Amino acid sequence: MNKISVAIDGPAGAGKSSVAKTVAAALGYVYIDTGAMYRSVAVYAIENGIDIDKDREELTARLDDIDISLKNDGGRQLVFLNGKDVTDRIRTEDASMGASAVAAIPEVRKKLVSEQKKMAESGGIIMDGRDIGTSVLPGAELKIYLTASVSERAKRRYKENLERGIECDYSDIENDVRKRDENDMTRAVSPLRKADGAVTVDTSSMTFEESVRTVTDMIREKEADVI
Ligand code: C5P
Repeated sequence: MNKISVAIDGPAGAGKSSVAKTVAAALGYVYIDTGAMYRSVAVYAIENGIDIDKDREELTARLDDIDISLKNDGGRQLVFLNGKDVTDRIRTEDASMGASAVAAIPEVRKKLVSEQKKMAESGGIIMDGRDIGTSVLPGAELKIYLTASVSERAKRRYKENLERGIECDYSDIENDVRKRDENDMTRAVSPLRKADGAVTVDTSSMTFEESVRTVTDMIREKEADVI
């Protein structure tokens, strides 16, 4: 079977990463989580005392000093920022909000989009993010817009935090989901939107297994069409 390129976009918490990772492992695809790259730039700014909103110029001047690499380790994607493992650090709330802020900076997007295009050159990849179908891989054979309602996405994140032992307040999480949606959908550069030719998969009333099966079937069907 011919492997294809798959672009998965959608709002925060729709389950893109976990679905994409599981499907990629099952079908022998390489999974690329582009959100991890925006999160890494945010962590660089935070750890170097750069205020993303006020010191934007300083951050853009230092972009060449930011080296991000993704490595697969037995199904888990490890993220390295200038050689340091930041896999867990990038999942904190400050990194999430920071990622949304750095993602609105055109120079940051230019650097990361160009790196992502290179990573995808070999094909056989599933890449997830906000602008994959619209700007990173507009020619992908399959484009999916994976979404779910705000309350369902907030519930999932809340449950995940509790499972990881992170104390949090449900209404804070819901506000955070709304805020990130607004940032991502209204920013001037590459706002989150459904790409031309993308198929919407609404996972609000699906179990995780159902979402995985839906996406797997879509890929299998496309692979069969590609000669
Ligand atoms: O996917 P994840 O929630 O980890 O992404 C973190 C943030 O990075 C998003 O809220 C979004 O602002 C930004 N992002 C983006 N374009 C991508 C991937 C992520 O703007 N391709």
